[in-house]
Amino acid sequence: MQEIYLDANATTPVLPQAQAAALAVMASAFGNPSSVHSSGLKARALLDQTRLTARRVLGLNSGQLFFTSGATEGIQTAVLSALRELRRRRDVEGRAPDSLLYGATEHKAVPEALKHWNAVLGLGLEIEAIPVGTDGRHDLAWLQEHAGHAGLVCTMAANNETGVISDLDGIAAALGGSTALWLVDGVQALGKLALKLEALGVDYAPFSGHKLYAPKGIGMLYVRDGAPFTSLIAGGGQEGFLRAGTENMAGIVALGAVLESLDRGDHFADRATLAAYRSRLEAALLDAFPGLVFNAPPELCLPTTLNFSVPGLSAKLLLNLFDAAGVRVSGGSACSAAEALPSHVLQAMGLPDWQTKSAVRLSFGAAEDAAVIDEACRRLRACGESLGASCLGPVALGHEAAPELVTRFVVGGACCYLVADAVSRRCVVIDLVPEAIDPIARWLKCCQLTLAAVLDTRGHGDYESSARALLAGATSALRETGDTYAIGWPEHATHIELGRFRLRALPLPGHTVDATAYLLHDGDALQFVFVGDAVSPEALGRRESQQSEQRACAGSLRKLAAIVGRHTLLLPGHDHDDYFATTLAAEMAVGPLLAGGARLEGWAAAESVELTASALAKLHSCAKPRLVDVRERYERHASAVAGTTLGVEAEAVPLSVFVNSVSRWCAGPAGVPLVFVCRSGNRSAQAARTLRRLGIPEAWSLAGGLANLPADDAVPAAVLP
Ligand code: PLP
Repeated sequence: MQEIYLDANATTPVLPQAQAAALAVMASAFGNPSSVHSSGLKARALLDQTRLTARRVLGLNSGQLFFTSGATEGIQTAVLSALRELRRRRDVEGRAPDSLLYGATEHKAVPEALKHWNAVLGLGLEIEAIPVGTDGRHDLAWLQEHAGHAGLVCTMAANNETGVISDLDGIAAALGGSTALWLVDGVQALGKLALKLEALGVDYAPFSGHKLYAPKGIGMLYVRDGAPFTSLIAGGGQEGFLRAGTENMAGIVALGAVLESLDRGDHFADRATLAAYRSRLEAALLDAFPGLVFNAPPELCLPTTLNFSVPGLSAKLLLNLFDAAGVRVSGGSACSAAEALPSHVLQAMGLPDWQTKSAVRLSFGAAEDAAVIDEACRRLRACGESLGASCLGPVALGHEAAPELVTRFVVGGACCYLVADAVSRRCVVIDLVPEAIDPIARWLKCCQLTLAAVLDTRGHGDYESSARALLAGATSALRETGDTYAIGWPEHATHIELGRFRLRALPLPGHTVDATAYLLHDGDALQFVFVGDAVSPEALGRRESQQSEQRACAGSLRKLAAIVGRHTLLLPGHDHDDYFATTLAAEMAVGPLLAGGARLEGWAAAESVELTASALAKLHSCAKPRLVDVRERYERHASAVAGTTLGVEAEAVPLSVFVNSVSRWCAGPAGVPLVFVCRSGNRSAQAARTLRRLGIPEAWSLAGGLANLPADDAVPAAVLP
C-alpha cells in the first residue's frame, strides 16, 4: 500500500463501478439522449434512471433535479436565479431587500458568486457574512435579527475544511417569516448526512460528484418547486430547458453507479463505523504529536473530517512529513493550499493566529475500509517518531544527532542560523527570531549542545532580541547576558571558539549603526560570513530609523570586499527570494551594490531551472547527473518507516543544511549536472536557483517533485551519484 489518501474533502478517487459505468457508456451506449433513435433512447433511459436514483438518495418527492458540471455551476445558477427574482421584486413590486447573507465559513464559490451576480445584475445589495461561533456553527440569533432584510441566505450543510455540520433546523427556524430565498450547499453532506431539503423549505441545493467517488465535471442542482429559476446556460433545451448543452453521459452514469451503491448500502460505511475510524485516527495523531489541538469539536463534525494544528509545527512541515510517509492530507482548503494563506474558515471561528496558519485537514471517504485506516494510524505514529528522531518533535526524545556546521531556520523570510561543532558540541545562534526559540531550545537539548553565544547581526532598537529567552532555558557557556554588548558578542573576546572553528566579529555600520558580520573560519580557511542585511535590498535600513547609518554603507561594503573577497559565501539575515547564500560577485552581477545602490533583481524570472522527468532521462544519456534529495531528515525517516522510499538513490542534503554543501558543489567537476529533487519541486527549485546564481549552470530541479521521478527501472543506474 503505497499511498494513503486522506484528502477526500478535496476530491475522491473514482469508485470502480463508476469507472466501469463511464467506460461502458463511452464504448457502447454513447448515444445522445436527445436523439430519437435507439441509441439516443438507450442514453435517455440511463439519464432518467440516474435522476431517479439521485432523487431517491436525496429523499425528493418534488422539485427539479438536473445535472450540472459541478457545484460551482450549481451555485452560479442558484445565485443568478435568486438575484434575478430580487431584481424583479424591486422593479415590479417595489420591494427590495437590503442584503445577501452567506455563512462566514462558506466555500469561496458562494461569496464570489454573490459578488459577481450582484455586480452583473446591477443590484448593489449589501453582501454580509453570517458570523459563526468558535464551534464553527452559524450565529442563529444574528441570523434571525437580519433575516427580515435579507433577499438570499446561503448556508452550507457541512464545512469542507472543518467538517462542522450546520444546524439546518435552527437556520430554518431563524428564517421563519422571512421572504429570503435559501441556498444550502450540500457538497460535503452528500452520502454522509440525510438532508431534509423539502421539509426544511430549501430553495436551492448544489451537489458535486467528485467529492463522492464520481469523476470531476459532474454535479447536480436541486431547485424547489416554485422557487424562482433562470437558466445559466441557454441553448438546445436539454435537461427540461433548465440547463442547455449535450449531457455529460459518462459523468452522469458514473455518478449514478455511486448513488446506487450508496442506496444499496454496499461499499459505504455507516456513520458509527466512520466515527470509530475517526476516533482511531484522532488517537494516532495525539500519540504522534503531543500538544496537538483539534480546530473544531469532533462531535459537531462529519465523522470523516479532522482539522488540527500542532504548536510549533507549520502546516508546510506537516504536509511534507505526511507526504513522505505516503499519507496525503491538505493544509487548510485545497483552493488556498498553493498560497499557504491562513484559513478564512478558522479565522471566522475566531481561532488564534497560529492555529489558523498551521491547520492541517485530514478527511477520508465514506467508502474507506478498516485496513487503510489501520495503516494510516501506523504511518501517522511513524511521522511523530521521525520528528522526534530528528530532534524536531514537540517532545525532544534525547537522540544524539550529530549537528551540521550550519543549520538555517527561516520564519517569514528572516533567517536564523545555528552554528554548531559536532565534536566539541559547542554552538552559537545568530539572529534568533521569536518563533525559532522553542524549536532551537528543543534541538539544543536533544543534540546536547552547549550554547556559547546568541548573536545578532544588528541591535534591534525597536524590539528586544530573543536571545535572553533562549539563554534562560539552555545549557550556556555564558555567565549572564549582561556581560555582552547589545548584539550578544562576549565583552573583550577577540573570537568565539567552537572546537576547530572560530567566529570573529566584523563591524559593518550601514543598515544600523551597530550592524556586525560574523566570519566563520575552519582553521585558517574562511567558510562563511553571516552578513545580516549588509548586502540585501534592506541594506540601507529604514530612513526614519534612528538606528540607520546610511552614509557608512558604501565604506562597509568596501571593507567587507577587502576582507572576505568576492567569492566567500555570505549568509543573509533576510532571504525573501530564497537565495540561501550569496557572494559579492553574485551580488555585483545583479546590481551596482558596491556603489551603494539597492539590488536589482530579475535573474530569477529569466532563467528556468526546471527539468521534466523525460528531460532527466534524456540528460542521462549524454551526461551522468547527480541526484540530490533536499527533503529534511524527518521526511526521509518517515519514508523509510512507511516503506515509501525513492525508487532511486540520491545524495541526501536537507535544505535546512544545504549551505554546507554549496562550496563543495561549486568546486565539483564541471559538466556534471546536479538535479535536485523534493516533494513538490519548490524546494529543489530554490536549491537549483541558488547554485545557478553562484555560477553553476548545470543545476536543475525535477519539475513537479518526486511524484514525477521516474521509477528505478526508468532511471538507469548511472543517474546515481
Ligand atoms: N462547495 C463546497 C463545500 C466544496 O467543498 C466545493 C469543492 O471544494 C465546492 C462547493 C465546489 O465544488 P465543485 O468542485 O464541484 O465546483
